[in-house]
Amino acid sequence: MSAGYAITTYKIQLNYKHLDWFKQTQSLFDAVLAFYYKLLEKQPEALTLSNQNLLRHLELQTIKQRDGTPPETPLPFEKIPLYFRRAAINAAISMHRSYLGKLKAWEEKQIENLGTESQSDSELNQVGKADLHHNFPPESAKKGKPTPPKNLHMSMLYYKGMYKDFADGHILLKLYTGKAWAWVKHRYTGRPFPKNAALMSPTIVIKKKKVMLHIPVKEIVEDSRTAKERVQQNEKFVAVALTGSDSLAVCTTIEADGRATAPYFIKGGKELAHRRKLLLGYTKRGIAGNNTPRFMTHTVGNAVLSVPQEHRPNKKYYDKITRLTDHYAHEVSRKIVDYAIKQGAKLIVLPELKESFDQAKKPYLGKTTYDFIGRRIARYVQYKAWQKGLVAMTSKPYYASTRCYHCDAPIAKHNTEYQNPSANFYGGKNFVCKEGHRGSTALNSARNLGKGFYERFYADVA
Ligand SMILES: [Zn+2]
Repeated sequence: MSAGYAITTYKIQLNYKHLDWFKQTQSLFDAVLAFYYKLLEKQPEALTLSNQNLLRHLELQTIKQRDGTPPETPLPFEKIPLYFRRAAINAAISMHRSYLGKLKAWEEKQIENLGTESQSDSELNQVGKADLHHNFPPESAKKGKPTPPKNLHMSMLYYKGMYKDFADGHILLKLYTGKAWAWVKHRYTGRPFPKNAALMSPTIVIKKKKVMLHIPVKEIVEDSRTAKERVQQNEKFVAVALTGSDSLAVCTTIEADGRATAPYFIKGGKELAHRRKLLLGYTKRGIAGNNTPRFMTHTVGNAVLSVPQEHRPNKKYYDKITRLTDHYAHEVSRKIVDYAIKQGAKLIVLPELKESFDQAKKPYLGKTTYDFIGRRIARYVQYKAWQKGLVAMTSKPYYASTRCYHCDAPIAKHNTEYQNPSANFYGGKNFVCKEGHRGSTALNSARNLGKGFYERFYADVA
């Protein structure tokens, strides 16, 4: 087995004296980013260049050359450190490429859809080509079209030259005070870095009053497969929550910078519960009044399901329940994988379900829809993902369903506005935390699962 390396992002919290300096630096960074983003928009032909050449290409247009040649479109900010500028350019390139990637995927889908409507197209052709041309593309086709990013912001990647003396609980960062650049010493707290690991360039993440350093830590690992899996996490991934409510699965995409985006609810739980209940009802009715041995007549409803399947009365109904459940599990898992593909994610993270001996043995006994279908969905996602060249893996959902994604405070769950939220309310569709954040419990779980996974394993191959 060959060795490889794994990159894990460590997050440490900075103690600072001047939050405003971080904010000044960040807004300058975003301004430089926006400048280059707009420059890129004007020259789509340059996008065929590799990222490194594209960076060089943009610098030639905006920075004075060594021989004194003035640039065509000078960068309208003075005294921007070289590596600060390069990080902003790279951020602009990455944001622009990401947007164009989404746009291209969307356009390809439109062409696909047009293909299936070729019948009506040819009819239109007979009516008059001029009209067709005039009306193309139809308004309805514009639905879901990706829009350019409105907020040109990205957390600052600090290359060498922007930080130094990074050791023993402190680091020096070059910050913009609003007037000038200054080296500022900061203490930090966080788990210790592993021995024999290489620390890579940190990203400064400012969240309200918290300033964090995200540091990719490179370690050699013996199992190259693990390394590969981890490296893949450099890209965005999809996190999934499986529930017992109407939304059988809720997906979110965790972007490369850790943001949870694009919530997607896959419904069908109510319908499934209803159809399952009907079938269970048949099994009860079937037992009453026939000549089944006496011990059988005592096992009705859910309890009857503890009898081995082949000995059960009304086997055909149980078979139907199995097929019905299977059908939903296939549908939901297919939708999860399709969603991941549409989002351009290569990795799907599912909650690691607790293995309960009783439930594994008697899958029908679970009280909720989730108990008997969640496991199956997870299993199908794994093999459907594999078929499509994606990786699905499970992660422990630490506190995923009991904490608020936004602020980590414990949450209370409820179903309606009129019900008192409670911490122990299982299956509550909505949640509220003491900070007043509220929303879908399942989406909160999916985001938390993604957040936890991101924090522990996210690899930044910058
Ligand atoms: Zn909250």
